[in-house]
Amino acid sequence: MFGRAPKKSDNTRYYEILGVSKNASQDDLKKAYKKAAIKNHPDKGGDPEKFKELAQAYEVLSDPEKREIYDQYGEDALKEGMGGGGGHDPFDIFQSFFGGSPFGGGSSRGRRQRRGEDVVHPLKVSLEDLYLGTSKKLSLSRNVICSKCNGKGSKSGASMSCSSCQGTGMKVTIRHLGPSMIQQMQHPCNECKGTGEMISDKDRCSQCKGEKVVQEKKVLEVIVEKGMQNGQKITFPGEADEAPDTVTGDIVFVLQQKEHPRFKRKGEDLFVEHTLSLTEALCGFQFALTHLDGRQLLIKTNPGEVVKPDSFKAINDEGMPMYQRPFMKGKLYIHFSVDFPDSLSPEQIKALMTVLPPKPSSQLTDMELDECEETTMYDVNIEEEMRRKQQQAQAEAYEDDDDMPGGAQRVQCAQQ
Ligand SMILES: [Zn+2]
Ligand SMILES: [Zn+2]
Repeated sequence: MFGRAPKKSDNTRYYEILGVSKNASQDDLKKAYKKAAIKNHPDKGGDPEKFKELAQAYEVLSDPEKREIYDQYGEDALKEGMGGGGGHDPFDIFQSFFGGSPFGGGSSRGRRQRRGEDVVHPLKVSLEDLYLGTSKKLSLSRNVICSKCNGKGSKSGASMSCSSCQGTGMKVTIRHLGPSMIQQMQHPCNECKGTGEMISDKDRCSQCKGEKVVQEKKVLEVIVEKGMQNGQKITFPGEADEAPDTVTGDIVFVLQQKEHPRFKRKGEDLFVEHTLSLTEALCGFQFALTHLDGRQLLIKTNPGEVVKPDSFKAINDEGMPMYQRPFMKGKLYIHFSVDFPDSLSPEQIKALMTVLPPKPSSQLTDMELDECEETTMYDVNIEEEMRRKQQQAQAEAYEDDDDMPGGAQRVQCAQQ
């Protein structure tokens, strides 16, 4: 029953691969990827594994939606959605980044059929949804291959090579940076959007206007099963945008559980907080707890039972249903706090002394009292106090670090 808590997988590795910080801008990412990808390109004798990793890291972090999911849930949350094989062809990513080979000559590899982008959507669900299971209908618009021209874009099915880029799909611009410095930049041709082909005005398909794809609204029904976890993915294979000569990617929904005002979930178990008055803690209590499905659970003590502050009690089979085994459920834990009175009147003390067990008999004698020094106790917030002390210690350690290297070097020099 234990040990199936939602696993937060690694969400720093991609940043490390690219050698950037977690708050790196898109520009930083681009620069880092460009430098590392050229250095590690297998055509230049680089390590293919490293090259693949770079492409994977860049592909995720350069997509704001994927980056958000990665930051929040880590690598595993994205893996499934990236098509099992662990992402797109690294050469495709490299090519689309540079728009052709940056090494002048053509790449030694032939073009394989591209795999379209996966579309990842977060899907907010309540804890009730995950307890009871639900289905959500979502309307999405996607590109589909134009049915009229079968994705050719033209009536005749023919296309001419783009005159602006001579069919290469790429254009080179030269910028003069100084008297003897030029910068050569390659970018996709905007006349043909990098495809290298053009369709003449009169041959253009009337339905897609030569775009080869048309927008279509589609309603997807997402089934959220009982016991699904925060971060779990629901995949619709091949439902992402269609494009010519491309294997259509998947639509992936990633469940995001909204905070619940009463219940916290850990794996299959539920936790709830309950505060008792001192009288309830000592003399017993009962109360009704509304469960996620609306049932009222009667929570009560046994006669004579005392509930101590910061203690837990558990109820079997009232936790979350297990995914794909919904008849099995985890535990419901109740964490009890006790509200103690701040002070008591002399009468209350007197009354309590008559019923509570006597104080320990080790009372101090007058002689012993004379030997003692008076002290004053005051209230502290111990967590606050400890945090402050830790910060202070860190600040001091930092100052020491600053002094060290120079000092150590001087000693070394003196010894030589
Ligand atoms: Zn062109
Ligand atoms: Zn068409």
